[in-house]
Amino acid sequence: MSLERGFFGEFGGSFVPNEMKEVLKKVEEVFYACKEDDDFHSELDYYLKEYVGRPNPLYYAQKLSEKLGGAKIYLKREELNHTGSHKINNVLGQVLLAKKMGFKRIIAETGAGQHGVATATAAALFGLECVIYMGEVDTKRQSLNVFRMELLGAKVVSVKTGTRTLKDAVDEALNDLVANSDNTYYVLGSAVGPHPYPEIVKYFQSIIGREAKEQILEKEGRLPDCIIACVGGGSNAIGLFSPFVKDKGVKIIGVEPAGKGLETGEHAASMTMGTPGTLHGFKCYVLADEKGEPLPTYCIAAGLDYPGVGPEHSYLKASGRAEYVTATDMEALDAFKELSKLEGIIPALESAHAISYAMKIAPTMSKDQIIIVNLSGRGDKDVQQVFEILNK
Ligand SMILES: *Cc1c(COP(=O)(O)O)cnc(C)c1O
Repeated sequence: MSLERGFFGEFGGSFVPNEMKEVLKKVEEVFYACKEDDDFHSELDYYLKEYVGRPNPLYYAQKLSEKLGGAKIYLKREELNHTGSHKINNVLGQVLLAKKMGFKRIIAETGAGQHGVATATAAALFGLECVIYMGEVDTKRQSLNVFRMELLGAKVVSVKTGTRTLKDAVDEALNDLVANSDNTYYVLGSAVGPHPYPEIVKYFQSIIGREAKEQILEKEGRLPDCIIACVGGGSNAIGLFSPFVKDKGVKIIGVEPAGKGLETGEHAASMTMGTPGTLHGFKCYVLADEKGEPLPTYCIAAGLDYPGVGPEHSYLKASGRAEYVTATDMEALDAFKELSKLEGIIPALESAHAISYAMKIAPTMSKDQIIIVNLSGRGDKDVQQVFEILNK
């Protein structure tokens, strides 16, 4: 891997205006200091245990495994975390960083609202002022999440520029950050963005893989043959993957959304269909037109709907260490129903993409082989949407 800070091979970096560079430099300094700070770690560990509910189980999905007739499938139960997904791991870490920097105000962008809700939750916990930027279109689509954030004490700013969706919310949040950098921290929601964000998000999410590794060694006495996670921006996936990257015998698979089918153009499979380019201040595989403008994307799971992907995933793909595959909306829906019925666990539609691929390959593997799937979130948020789709 490139030794240059913030680069993963040719990917990553920090392509931002100078005033932003200064802000990011400060974040980087505090982050590196906190990594070495015992007090920081004991506070983070305290809240991960007492507030989030970690460690969560690594659960053997026996009925699912037996029905498929191949490898044993284990589920890393991130859906059992407080607020229902892996997002809280990252948010809590970053809000503690903000506290270390002495900031009393945090901001974030949100698309479907999940990251906004997690950020508002941590802001409430620590009594910080919180502003969430959300495209006007998204505030209408996700009015209940707007209400949740408001209940938690956050101010939701409806962004009315551009397409009035996530990309515009990011732009507004960045403008706020540059204008208020003396008292404001920007909590970024996935393993994307300019350096040092991808590194920070990986650091706080890698608790997923560290726990899973310890748990599988305890249960099976050996490492898994394969680990699988869904990939939007890539935070839950890099969190599971990173502690296993050096274990060459462990196959690493990321699952991107093929939406209505790769051939339809209605998908968000950035690595499968994209090309290297720059987006939101960093280099990665991007779904873009000839001019380099990001293309509109689509996916049944709002959390996977992003035209780029984290720089480290881009590198893991280019270097061949990880493999990236796709699952369609229909495949994810089948997995959503199957896991609910067989194991009594309703997965998030995002996570259902990863389950779906595990269901595809488990029968091709032997009964003494092991797959770990990251169950990144619970599906309660998706039940209404699936109800409407299935009743059409
Ligand atoms: C947000 C979200 C994702 C996608 O984000 P990543 O950064 O790719 O992990 C996946 N699963 C769930 C449940 C989410 O809420």
